Amino acid sequence: GEPLVKIENLYIDFITDRGVVKAIDGVSFDIRKGEILALIGETGCGKSVTAKAIMRLLPRNAIVKGKIIYKGRNLLELPEREMRKIRGKEIAMIFQDPLTSLNPVFTIEDQMGEMFKVHKLPVVGSILDEIVKLLKMVKIPDPEKRVKSYPFELSGGMRQRVMIAMMLSAKPSLLIADEPTTALDVTIQAQIMNLMLELREKFETSILLITHNPGVVAEMADRVVVMYAGQVVEIAPVEEIFDNPLHPYTQGLLRALPRGHKTERELENIPGRVPNLLNPPKGCRFHPRCKKAKEMCSKEKPKLIEVEKEHYVACHLYGGR
Ligand code: SF4
Ligand code: MG
Repeated sequence: GEPLVKIENLYIDFITDRGVVKAIDGVSFDIRKGEILALIGETGCGKSVTAKAIMRLLPRNAIVKGKIIYKGRNLLELPEREMRKIRGKEIAMIFQDPLTSLNPVFTIEDQMGEMFKVHKLPVVGSILDEIVKLLKMVKIPDPEKRVKSYPFELSGGMRQRVMIAMMLSAKPSLLIADEPTTALDVTIQAQIMNLMLELREKFETSILLITHNPGVVAEMADRVVVMYAGQVVEIAPVEEIFDNPLHPYTQGLLRALPRGHKTERELENIPGRVPNLLNPPKGCRFHPRCKKAKEMCSKEKPKLIEVEKEHYVACHLYGGR
């Protein structure tokens, strides 16, 4: 597929009291039109930071270099006023806890209505009719009544549906879902995932799915990007990543996942600690934890190379240097 977003050589540093945190170190990958791309890796590896960079929602202490090309324009260089037209409309984001993205002092009708006004979305009849229609689409029971509720009056699953209803109204080209189901029970999780699949079906929305759940990856993703300590270590189609993981980190992450039990398990914990990005390991950032490390691993950063069709890995075992 054709790329919708091209992330090129992204570097993000955070200036803190304790020093410079080198959070993202030369990350490049594409998000293709209509694909579901899973972004996986341990907490703190830079998944959410990358997502926020695409949305241009990074805090002020972030120093960002590189390019994020979306429809021919570098998002990192757009004036905030241009970015505001894209954010929430063309590129939308749902978080683990929708309470953080819904405004607590407004009813569902107010917040959804605001979307219609800000992005000048087409309305047949009244905005309220449109909102009720959307809430029906995401299967919120009794939508005429629910629309008058405040976010705190709804369950977590309901709130996530409201978020998805807002997505549906905006018909974004890209949906970024950052652990969208982590806080929800299994049945609701499955329903939310189905809604995302419908969204992709209907509008060819690309989805960047950040998750810790290998079952979700296996069921939803077309391709997978594996990050470690602010770097991309492997990119492959989903069957490839499970059947033939090449990077020692990916192998550890997906190790011994019993088939059919994927949904109940988190990704594996790998011995050793996630490195401190104030002072990251030289060369391959994984070398202090890697059983296969060679001398050069602590000296040279391996490049991401295509070792098989569509399968990229950054590791000296595969000649990447
Ligand atoms: Fe291990 Fe070296 Fe490969 Fe890094 S480059 S994953 S240290 S073998
Ligand atoms: Mg995160």
